[in-house]
Amino acid sequence: MSYIEEVRAAVAARNAGQPEFMQAVDEVLNTIRPVVESDDVYKRNAVLERITEPDRQIMFRVPWTDDNGNMRVNRGYRIQFNNAIGPYKGGLRLHPSVNLSIIKFLGFEQIFKNSLTGLPIGGGKGGSDFDPKGKSEREIRDFCHSFMTELSRHIGADTDVPAGDIGVGGREIGYMYGQYKRIKNLYEGVLTGKGLTYGGSLARTEATGYGLVYITENMLAAANDGIKGKTVAISGSGNVAIYAAQKVQTLGGKVVTMSDSNGWIYDPNGIDLAVVKDIKEVKRGRIKEYADRVKSAEYHDSGKVWQVKCDVALPCATQNELDENDAHTLVKNKVKAVGEGANMPSTTEAINVFQAANVLFMPAKAANAGGVAVSALEMSQNSQRLAWTFDEVDGKLKGIMKGIFDKTAEAAKLYSKPADYVSGANIAGFLKVAQAMIAQGV
Ligand code: GLU
Repeated sequence: MSYIEEVRAAVAARNAGQPEFMQAVDEVLNTIRPVVESDDVYKRNAVLERITEPDRQIMFRVPWTDDNGNMRVNRGYRIQFNNAIGPYKGGLRLHPSVNLSIIKFLGFEQIFKNSLTGLPIGGGKGGSDFDPKGKSEREIRDFCHSFMTELSRHIGADTDVPAGDIGVGGREIGYMYGQYKRIKNLYEGVLTGKGLTYGGSLARTEATGYGLVYITENMLAAANDGIKGKTVAISGSGNVAIYAAQKVQTLGGKVVTMSDSNGWIYDPNGIDLAVVKDIKEVKRGRIKEYADRVKSAEYHDSGKVWQVKCDVALPCATQNELDENDAHTLVKNKVKAVGEGANMPSTTEAINVFQAANVLFMPAKAANAGGVAVSALEMSQNSQRLAWTFDEVDGKLKGIMKGIFDKTAEAAKLYSKPADYVSGANIAGFLKVAQAMIAQGV
């Protein structure tokens, strides 16, 4: 058995019942083979055994009270996966589907994504199976305070810096930051995605979506093409989807779909983002309302946005939302490019379909790294006690995404084949972390 197969078998045996984590591990192990098998330094230093085993896995009880005065309990997680190149860094997800497998897959992905940004941030992730949907403002606040009461023992500006993810936006970060400050008596950049009045960075809200479109544009440009004039299908209607749509529109593309967990909308005239923002950011409502307000739109509560004909597909909802059948439909409809805004939104089989059909495919670790990159810029600003302008941050983001594209494309060419961005992103991300791990010895 080769070193890679040995490690894969050991990881699978030790992490039984964690399909999402194994999916993420398998993809990385399969694609870094040319690097790992070219030099036994990786095996001698047990780099693969170490990189697939988190430094620390923290699980804790989160008690809170609902509006009827009843005590409720959820489970909290923080996986501190790897800090070879910087403090653990990664978001917190609040969603009923959260479990150890999901947080570990996200933390594992974060190691490579954060490495690709070129900034000094390690990999971590956390969250809870708490469902924010339908909860009152007070319930959310009580949960966030309780969650941070325990989490505060494990994090710090130079140790581990959480941020948002699904279910965690500016409001939740605010409540968590307030509780951290109160417990520790420290005013430090321990969380990113903070409000602009207390240390947040301009352009952090837009960063993941903008970054996704910048790198998709880089990928199209390398094939002598661009977003301008393209029809774009987007899934999701959270922070990533909304700002991806905004940037596509600025660049002259037409976004025709968006979705939430109940259903999806198709607007052949192009999505009116002001309406989506009002529904999602102000009213915290459902995407169905869009079709009540905009006459040209259709609402569907079954099927997926991927059945709509498009040139570019940007999955920005959640993991494994785009499967093999969806990929076949997109290919049949002549999709040219796919950029992953969510984390691991395409199944392994779907990626195989895209690659076999020569669809340009930018994987999440590269494509959605703009969010965490600007989080790292928020950390820099907090350490400097300065605040940069929107254009300064956005300009740096653009440069970082171009840097990620170049590194990814170069690694693809060197170790796999041109435009195999899946291998390119995994290899480029892996090399920096592996070198740091070997240099540090433990
Ligand atoms: N949750 C985001 C991600 O998946 C952002 C993490 C961060 O800003 O730390 O990368």
